[in-house]
Amino acid sequence: MAGTYNNVLELINNTPLVRLNKVTEGMKGKFFAKLECYNPGHSTKDRIALHIIENAERKGLLKPGATIVETTSGNTGFSIAMVSIVKGYKCILAVSDKTKPEKISFLRAMGAKVYLCPANVPADDPRSYYEVAKKIAAETPNSIYINQYFNKENTKSHYLTTGPEIWEQTQGKITHLIGCTGTGGTLTGAAEYLKEKNPNIKIIGVDAVGSVLKKYFETGEIDPNEIKPYQIEGLGKNLIPEALDFSVIDKYVKVSDEPSAYATREIALKEAMMVGYTSGASLTATRKIAEDFTDESVVVLIFPDHGSRYMTKVFSDEWMQSQGFVKSRLNGLESHATI
Ligand code: PMP
Repeated sequence: MAGTYNNVLELINNTPLVRLNKVTEGMKGKFFAKLECYNPGHSTKDRIALHIIENAERKGLLKPGATIVETTSGNTGFSIAMVSIVKGYKCILAVSDKTKPEKISFLRAMGAKVYLCPANVPADDPRSYYEVAKKIAAETPNSIYINQYFNKENTKSHYLTTGPEIWEQTQGKITHLIGCTGTGGTLTGAAEYLKEKNPNIKIIGVDAVGSVLKKYFETGEIDPNEIKPYQIEGLGKNLIPEALDFSVIDKYVKVSDEPSAYATREIALKEAMMVGYTSGASLTATRKIAEDFTDESVVVLIFPDHGSRYMTKVFSDEWMQSQGFVKSRLNGLESHATI
């Protein structure tokens, strides 16, 4: 039944869990997608924006007219801007000057003030977006800096919401949880709750080729030689986030740009789910560990955001070709409009 709500923030959380029927054909077990694009800001980041801001309110850190500061051009920026509008706060985002103009328009459309900072300076340079955000937060009275990679409340928001939702939606039958780790908040916050309920649930982190997280998980060391650019946005990192609780992860799987891009398009064409690039990355990782599953497995994949944010990337045949992704492998996966 359709509900009636006081504002869009009441629509955050309680996203649906939907069975994957075709893209997992040939694998043992039942597979479900946690569709985070059903949040009003179309991503999992609505959960952390709401929780972190309301937690600061409870602590008395935010008075009317407060300012919320963060360093992201991605989903988190949009979610913070959205929460700020409803609550009457100002939202300031410091982003790299390499951010695509459409993304900046997107954030400005939600009322955010966007500061463009040079991309090619070290993180500790006063011009970097980290330092600019820190300075703005320090110099603006009645403000908070969200700092999602180093904020434990990020992880806690998923412990309080995503984890319990998945437990209830699978009636406690979940055996595997699979998700990409950027800050690590979504996967490991949900995992902390699920492992309290049943320590046998396996938690699988998905990392990008070019990121240091998997190796750090396995060896405790950062290998600088591993760091290289990649196209999937939102997972992996060249530093170790404090929001990522490695102790609840059982296994890490690395995925690369090309199969993850095809998998994203396959999810749209075969399941009618228009979801983002990291959803395809999680499906790719799931396929890589197919031998881990049995007929009794109940596998939940986190699909963090909506595909509309990737129209000039994975959903563009031109972009796919510009990446050197082989044309013949696009067969059947082109958007029909361009054939
Ligand atoms: N996918 C996308 C598209 C994201 O924006 C993010 C967040 N960076 C993630 C996955 C990973 O989520 P988390 O930061 O909670 O690990």
